[in-house]
Amino acid sequence: MNLSLKPGREKSLLRRHPWVFASALQTPDIQTASGSTVSLHDPTGHFLAQASYSPHSQIRARVWTFTDEAVDKEFFRRHIKAAIEVRRQLNVGSASDSYRLIHGESDGLPGLIVDRYADLLVLQSLTAGTEFWKGTLADLLIEETGIETIYERSDADVRELEGLQPITGLLRGELHASRFPIQEHGLKFQIDVEHGHKTGFYLDQCENRRRVGELSKDRDVLNCFCYTGGFSIHALANGARSVLSVDSSADALSMLEENLALNELPAERHTSMQGDVFQLLRKFRDEARSFDLIILDPPKFAPTSAHAEKASRAYKDINLLAFKLLRVGGILVTFSCSGGVDAALFQKIVASAALDAGVNATISEHLSQGADHPVSLHFPEGAYLKGMICVKNA
Ligand code: SAH
Repeated sequence: MNLSLKPGREKSLLRRHPWVFASALQTPDIQTASGSTVSLHDPTGHFLAQASYSPHSQIRARVWTFTDEAVDKEFFRRHIKAAIEVRRQLNVGSASDSYRLIHGESDGLPGLIVDRYADLLVLQSLTAGTEFWKGTLADLLIEETGIETIYERSDADVRELEGLQPITGLLRGELHASRFPIQEHGLKFQIDVEHGHKTGFYLDQCENRRRVGELSKDRDVLNCFCYTGGFSIHALANGARSVLSVDSSADALSMLEENLALNELPAERHTSMQGDVFQLLRKFRDEARSFDLIILDPPKFAPTSAHAEKASRAYKDINLLAFKLLRVGGILVTFSCSGGVDAALFQKIVASAALDAGVNATISEHLSQGADHPVSLHFPEGAYLKGMICVKNA
């Protein structure tokens, strides 16, 4: 099947951006199977790319390739092999047995996420295209990694935009327990692949957790939005004087307690608190509490730029309160994983939070997702995790 772009709308494809919106197509609605491969042409009939067709999504087509090569099992094998090879070359997995193996568009496979947790793969199929090829992709992942078990966590909200139902469950092999420990920089974490967030763990923060560990010695640490305690465990293992971990989820906090025990860390230096970070930061301010290191790793407040304004207020609120709670010389490690807030806007928000808090602060480091979450230069949306380490000056 052929699809033609409207005049002028071929520009983003010429820049190798892989998405084609329905509004860019001359005839966006065609009779072809959901997820099947279509050819894209410019208004004069020149070939541009081959893409998967998503009949229900505003993103009507996602590019597999800008050439006329066959899109078949061997095509997907080449991409999976390349993703494995680039991670091997970059030494991903040398300090942790768990990392992202396939990062969607940035690994040339729009809609496919595959995370490796020790001897298990967790797959997320987010688009009609990956749904169409899912069986083939599962077979190839087993052939190319040698791992025998794949668990599917295709329950992300974005599937709804593709007209796809949530699907979770075993895709290949056998799962003997849904919870098991992984290793990250010498520390152990329980993963719950059936019920955990995303595919079970926030692998994108692996290097940032290590960095926070390095900064934690002899400090009083406040870890906001702690989930199962990633930053808290690294801080305690590296000699933090105290760690206070806050999350709204009781399940996450109970996993955190297990993770503390698993690593034989001094429980007396740690406190868990279930609650809303927005409220608790206010309470701590009213109680005149203070900390040497504060981590803010909130959930996605702005999935798209349409939510940017409301999200900006939420980011400003927590960053402002955190600056107030920090002692002079203290460190704020602050993140945004919102696609709708880019790095420049995030920096502006944090700057205005410092201004309103009456604080003089500097950025000492910019942080991002790890090397296992690469970003295609042609797909800047892939750079979703932004972070800064700020120091509160006198
Ligand atoms: N830093 C974590 C990941 C954080 S994910 C890690 O490295 O593993 C975001 C967490 O924020 C989730 O655990 C979620 O339960 C929690 N959360 C969301 N909204 C919240 C709120 N208003 N107050 C407290 N916790 C919240």
